[in-house]
Amino acid sequence: MANSKANSLDMDMLRGNGAMPPAMLEFRNVSHVYTTPTSTPSVTDISFTIHKGEMVSLLGPSGSGKSTILRLAAGLEKPDGGEIQLAGKAIATPTSMTMPEERGIGLVFQDHALFPHMTIMENVMFALNGRHYRHISQAEKKCRAVIALEKLDLNGFFDRHPHELSGGEMQRVALARALAPNPKLILLDEPFAGLDIRLKERIRDDILHVLHDIGMTVLMVTHDSDEAMFMSHRIMVMRGGQVVQSGAPIDVFRKPNCAFVAEFFGEVNTIDGIVANGEVKTPFGGYAANGLADGTAASIIIRNDGLLVDGKATPQLPGYPAEVIETIMLGRYSIVHLAVPQEKGPVLHLHARVPPIQWFEQGTAVSLRLDDSQVFVFKKAD
Ligand code: ADP
Repeated sequence: MANSKANSLDMDMLRGNGAMPPAMLEFRNVSHVYTTPTSTPSVTDISFTIHKGEMVSLLGPSGSGKSTILRLAAGLEKPDGGEIQLAGKAIATPTSMTMPEERGIGLVFQDHALFPHMTIMENVMFALNGRHYRHISQAEKKCRAVIALEKLDLNGFFDRHPHELSGGEMQRVALARALAPNPKLILLDEPFAGLDIRLKERIRDDILHVLHDIGMTVLMVTHDSDEAMFMSHRIMVMRGGQVVQSGAPIDVFRKPNCAFVAEFFGEVNTIDGIVANGEVKTPFGGYAANGLADGTAASIIIRNDGLLVDGKATPQLPGYPAEVIETIMLGRYSIVHLAVPQEKGPVLHLHARVPPIQWFEQGTAVSLRLDDSQVFVFKKAD
């Protein structure tokens, strides 16, 4: 299959003739509480719109409410407040619910949930068994199943059973099963989490292209920021049952609106300080305080990739002094642990992510520079 990325297709391409595609899934001020003795809210006052053909990822740590949003969209949970719409029609409010099978929404879970005693063809045809498909003949159901399986390059697999397939093939069958009824929307819940790391990237790429080619609207849950960047037109970062930032992958990555979002896209170094004269002092000079008032406790967040390590400062390449504590080679890159002296206060221990060709012996004096596009200043979190 072709080799490109979802987010290389920006929203302008989705818009096509210039008009925004219609809303497909809309959450309007949706809240939900699981009925437990403590009744802790799972999601609170969530509003968002996913347009036709858009691929959106919900990214966040465990317990932030991602799966609950998917379950609410699928009809497996009922909202306690607000309204959910699909293609302009209300499908869930606290007082009314369209049944899951009536919604026209396909679901793919991490464990793919294929029936072990059925062939691949039977598994996919099973998706066309509901009351909704009573008027469709067996021959037409088979035809729809074949089309879905062919889309996913599963031509030779019709008569096999799930145990005769690899994890990646099973995941493709699960997607074929979800696509067979021609859903309006596909929900993917950590669909690649169970796959072997080497397989994962290829399967992800294959599935991405199928979904793109058919212009499917997709809402995907992941806790993996690389996956969200790779798969999405838009990322919604979640924390504590709320969306903390929503935007194109490049914007969320380059312009995180808080330390939590910045930290979600890879390891960072944090230097705390107090704003004075509109700046926060660091071993790398003063950093503009980003509008924070003097006296505010601030955190400077430096992505590990934003800390650049040079062998020795030169007049052409001036830098700040540091000493190497150790270099840890991790294959595609290395992490250099650095002792960085401060004018006042203890020596800082910072991490730099460098290409694997860079190797520094313990105790080497090095020179540091910062890539300013990977440095962020925020009010210190409480
Ligand atoms: P995520 O998918 O981001 O890991 P969830 O949507 O599963 O988060 O969970 C959101 C919150 O709801 C968490 O506090 C979690 O403990 C709680 N929760 C999830 N499922 C249930 C359940 N079946 N019963 C009670 N609480 C639940």
